[in-house]
Amino acid sequence: MRVPPAAGGHTHARTALGLAVALLGQGCAGVEAPRGSAGQGWSYVFEINQALNTMETAVCFEGKPPSVFVPQVKDARRALVRAAVVDGPALTPAPWGLDLSAVPPGGCVRYTLDLEELASSWGWGSRDRRYHDDDLVLTPDVWLWTSDPRPGAIPITASFRLPPDIEAVVPWPALPDGRYRVPRTAWRIKAAAAFVRTDVIRFEAAGARVQVARLGEGWQMTPAEVERWVRGAVEANAGLFDGRFPVEDITVLLLPAGGEEVGFGMSTRGGGSAVTLTVGQGLGLGAAERDWTLYHEVLHLAFPSLQTEHAWLYEGLVTYYEPILRVRAGLKPSRWAWERLHDGFRRGRSTRTDRTLREESAQMHRIYAFWPVYWGGAALAFLSDVELRSARPPGPFASLDAEVRALTACCLRDDLPPWEVSDLLGQLQLPADAQELGSIAARHLDQHDFPDLSDAYRRLGLRFDAEGKLLTQPGEPGAELRIAIMGRDVEALE
Ligand SMILES: [Zn+2]
Repeated sequence: MRVPPAAGGHTHARTALGLAVALLGQGCAGVEAPRGSAGQGWSYVFEINQALNTMETAVCFEGKPPSVFVPQVKDARRALVRAAVVDGPALTPAPWGLDLSAVPPGGCVRYTLDLEELASSWGWGSRDRRYHDDDLVLTPDVWLWTSDPRPGAIPITASFRLPPDIEAVVPWPALPDGRYRVPRTAWRIKAAAAFVRTDVIRFEAAGARVQVARLGEGWQMTPAEVERWVRGAVEANAGLFDGRFPVEDITVLLLPAGGEEVGFGMSTRGGGSAVTLTVGQGLGLGAAERDWTLYHEVLHLAFPSLQTEHAWLYEGLVTYYEPILRVRAGLKPSRWAWERLHDGFRRGRSTRTDRTLREESAQMHRIYAFWPVYWGGAALAFLSDVELRSARPPGPFASLDAEVRALTACCLRDDLPPWEVSDLLGQLQLPADAQELGSIAARHLDQHDFPDLSDAYRRLGLRFDAEGKLLTQPGEPGAELRIAIMGRDVEALE
């Protein structure tokens, strides 16, 4: 996640659309029950009305239905308007959700939600539940109800019935028949989705299917410019993986924020990979490509998902690689990236508290320890990279690139919960004395001081003045290592 800027962009008020009262007269009309195939599985059909304020869902269970059905986020229960067994009695909602004991094997349930109850125009919730003009960003965590406990390996599909001018933008993998497969991460990890009237921008980049939705009106960038920006971010990050981005589907939601800057950014993996960015509609392509947020959030999607307390690792890797990958892709000068890393390390050092990096990482969101964790983690990635590349003879991995690729290859999966660091690194089955990211990090995580980088700087020949300007000239000692990391040496100082 990116640190929220001091001035938030959540200033858009919205007049409420008509209430869902009108729906109460609809009775059982609306969603037709989906036809299941033989075997075991659940299938959902979601129908939304033209005003985007009511969602009617029919879900059918092959075999025995679960005993209860609940929203994934507790407070979303208040949006329930009514529920019934399809071709059967109405269901009386309990405070926690629905009791399904009256549903026969192979039966279906229908539930109706008032989406305006779920939307919020201010605060943290407004980032993934909010109307923007005539569009709606709304996380499936509030409308995709499920069993408790959550379904295990049951195959689950979903489809939408929407008015002709509305598109559903969900992170789930599309099936050839127009339905979606709902992966198990939908139940375990925060998810993002939207319903929009503007055309969704779809293209392929570095082997991934990308869909970008801009919500609301008044965007300055054309669809072609948005595509160029997002494509550039996917392709630059794919450079770490031999040009092929390691997930198949990427959803990007651009939420309008006023102004001309990129604001808050967030990546989510629930049900699939997605990035949500709040963006000033006045943002132009040049400023978009100069900003780091999109590159950062997209790169998160390429690494295995970790439990939140291990922010030093997932934020550290992304923070370290973001400038490097932009240089390797030819988007930025090498000199800029070294100065960016140096500036970040200084910021990380100066914002460090008396806690260890492990402690700051575990409490990052509560104590706002973003800079020490991002840059403390990046410093460990940097030290590991220099160490791995300098080792003679080379260890099991010759660079951090190689180790990270191995982690992604083994462990970026949508059928497992987020990893513990020790379990994740354990998958590499390295010898106990191997010098690698995990063992190097272990030496620093419980230290109170920011890692000492002077030896790594010396090996790279990095010299900075007091303002953080890089003084190193091309060809000076350390060039080989500098080129190994950035793909090229520093540009000559003017
Ligand atoms: Zn992040």
